[in-house]
Amino acid sequence: MNRFAKLDQRYVWHPFTQMRDWLRREPIVISSGRGAVLRDVKGREYLDANSSIWTNLHGHAHPKINAALTRQLKTISHSSALGLANEPASLLAKQLVRAADPVPRSAFRTPRLEKVFFSDDGSTAMEVALKLAYEFARRTRGLKRPKFLALAGAYHGDTVGAVSLGHIDLFHKAYAGLLFKTDQVMSPYCYRCPFNRAKPERADARDYRQCNWECVGKVEKKFAAQKKRQNPYAAFVFEPLMQGAAGMIPQPAGWLRRVAEIARGHGAQLIADEVMTGFGRTGSEFRLQEAPASGKPPKGGTPNPLFASHHEGVQPDFLALAKGLTGGCLPMAATLTTQRVFDAFLGEYEEFKTFFHGHSFTGNQLGAAAGLASLELLTSQPSIRARAALERILREELSSLWPLPNVGDIRQVGLVVGVELVRDWRTRAAFDLRERTGIRVCEAMARRGVLTRPVGNVVVLMPPYCTTPAQARRMVRALYEAVAEVLGKKVGK
Ligand code: PMP
Repeated sequence: MNRFAKLDQRYVWHPFTQMRDWLRREPIVISSGRGAVLRDVKGREYLDANSSIWTNLHGHAHPKINAALTRQLKTISHSSALGLANEPASLLAKQLVRAADPVPRSAFRTPRLEKVFFSDDGSTAMEVALKLAYEFARRTRGLKRPKFLALAGAYHGDTVGAVSLGHIDLFHKAYAGLLFKTDQVMSPYCYRCPFNRAKPERADARDYRQCNWECVGKVEKKFAAQKKRQNPYAAFVFEPLMQGAAGMIPQPAGWLRRVAEIARGHGAQLIADEVMTGFGRTGSEFRLQEAPASGKPPKGGTPNPLFASHHEGVQPDFLALAKGLTGGCLPMAATLTTQRVFDAFLGEYEEFKTFFHGHSFTGNQLGAAAGLASLELLTSQPSIRARAALERILREELSSLWPLPNVGDIRQVGLVVGVELVRDWRTRAAFDLRERTGIRVCEAMARRGVLTRPVGNVVVLMPPYCTTPAQARRMVRALYEAVAEVLGKKVGK
């Protein structure tokens, strides 16, 4: 066994991993990466089909990001944000505020995001949003024990506050004793929605669903009931357009806009977790219904939202960002919020209205330098064009999976794809998690040189934006062959 594999097995405890399984076989040891390709210590190459757990945007070892890091290394890597400012973090804050300023602004009735609180990862970005919203509700709305509403199946991170907002029993139940209570409401999981009267078809369930937006009605009911209890929700927490770890659950067009309006109508703040969906992941298609009928670009620029909420004309009060913030090369996160929230924490020192929260690496210079380079790449025309092309190619290629009888639903939102595997597409019968279907299919993909991880029985494809058409085809082909191999069905191709 390779030396590093041995060391790993002796000393490292891996996240979300049954270590007994891990210790049974030699792990892949990654030694380098370039573009969409990862290389292991044995010289084998793999396509990084989930962007290294949804983090990487522009590809590995991107020359522009590496150059920015090298430049920054020559000056300083880190100095504390407690009591000190620094150059790249202040610039990055400005650029994030600019990127989060929606176009056309006139269509967004909510205030602008103007302040940036830096932290380390998705979980901490959500903890910050949660604590700010909690205290804001106490100070400005007089709520004694502010309560939060989140979506069924929600995942917002693994720290205790973020876990409290989550609703995945498998991950969260064990820690119930540590958590505070939050409410959940059904998410628009069209493929498995009890209100969807449509029979299964060979298409994305959102496109053929038959319902009366009962899921929106449920949200309305939750808000109304909580108001009756005289403790209106402080905030509504959601992943916009696509819930990731819940199983790549996409929202039908119009859902987010509707529920955001309900939440606002009840005085709740909106916390958008864009840890996975942010930075162009959800594609270039502009879904805002109020977009000008003329088709002409609105004043102020062409809509090309970097954030999923903006696709539906929703501007949250809190925007949590991480993963792709640095292009996926360093851990750094940010929580953007409004002037109103910021003002609620202003006061004389002795009033102790300060936001007592922070991390040692808050505003880290290396992360900020990478973040600036990544944002510059994201807003460049070649990147915008490449994302649109990759989205199109994925859409075309994915249609080749429909002949597989174990493919139940193919859900694509921009550059995020979830393929739900089922026993039989005609009945939508699910595999028991114990069968490890998703894991076995991903292992079969790895043998074909394509790396990804499933969410239960949903195989995820989320390639870096630099993925070439040929590489995208290989990813989908590997998935096709892996499903056929593992589920052993005759396939018609
Ligand atoms: N929110 C969402 C939507 C996520 O997908 C994740 C991570 N998968 C997190 C929060 C937590 O981020 P991190 O792992 O960086 O703490």
